[in-house]
Amino acid sequence: MSHPHEPVHEVLESRAFEVGDGTEVRRLVPQRRLRTVGAWCFADHYGPDEVTGAAGMQVPPHPHMGLQTVSWLLEGAIVHRDSLGSLQRVGPRELSLMTSGDAISHAEESPPDRPPVLHGVQLWVALPESRRHGLPAYEHHTDLPQVTHGALTATVFLGTHAGVTSPGSTWSPLVGMEVVGDGVLPLESDWEHVAFALEGTAEVDGGVAEVGEVVQLGAGREDLQVAGHVMVLGGEPLEEQLVLWWNFVCRSNDEVVQAREDWESSTGRFGTVVGYPGPALSAPPLGPVRLMPRS
Ligand code: MN
Repeated sequence: MSHPHEPVHEVLESRAFEVGDGTEVRRLVPQRRLRTVGAWCFADHYGPDEVTGAAGMQVPPHPHMGLQTVSWLLEGAIVHRDSLGSLQRVGPRELSLMTSGDAISHAEESPPDRPPVLHGVQLWVALPESRRHGLPAYEHHTDLPQVTHGALTATVFLGTHAGVTSPGSTWSPLVGMEVVGDGVLPLESDWEHVAFALEGTAEVDGGVAEVGEVVQLGAGREDLQVAGHVMVLGGEPLEEQLVLWWNFVCRSNDEVVQAREDWESSTGRFGTVVGYPGPALSAPPLGPVRLMPRS
């Protein structure tokens, strides 16, 4: 059921997590019945949170491998720092895209002069074998293409939709878009898709979608009925089996063990994040069970 090859309509609940020092998130992906959507392998939706007089987002330096991180804000601002020396303030509807390759580390924080409300989505894309051992990179794009379909507007922040492609680098056929309005959205029928509400109550494929739920849509759809404000993620079904552990997207238990050890013993593999006001995160202990690849 994690890879339906035909249209389905399954409303799945998110789970609540805390990331960094106190940001409450709704984790939509992964979950037992939804491991990946194309190469998308992780989706957290947070806020809108009042961050004036509060810490806001404070995620200390931590490592990544085998993935891209995608930050998409609907409101507010965050500062991205990474081990390449990137220091970037990111605002609403700007693409913050970090490609880890084999190793990178980064931190994200609410800037001191932050706007009062923080609302956004944090996504990961699994890198294919051909790119996951490569060099890390960081991109910030402020001009993302929009496509209108009648009374629907889709902002394509990553990948390709209806012949329009985001400037963000991708290594597998996929799309991430913010959709608002009321109408019918064309889809790539070979891809699998999910949709989730970004505010209030939306309508997806004739059903109600509340914030905190993700609608698993399966594959084989030519289009999708949408009303409201939603995010749609889609992509070519992933052939590779992944081992996700903490901040690592690997292929085997041994890779996870090595990455954890390299971070914990500061071998230099993941570089150093300069300027974050606090210590880096420690990896959690590994459990007693060997991690098995799953698709
Ligand atoms: Mn991260």
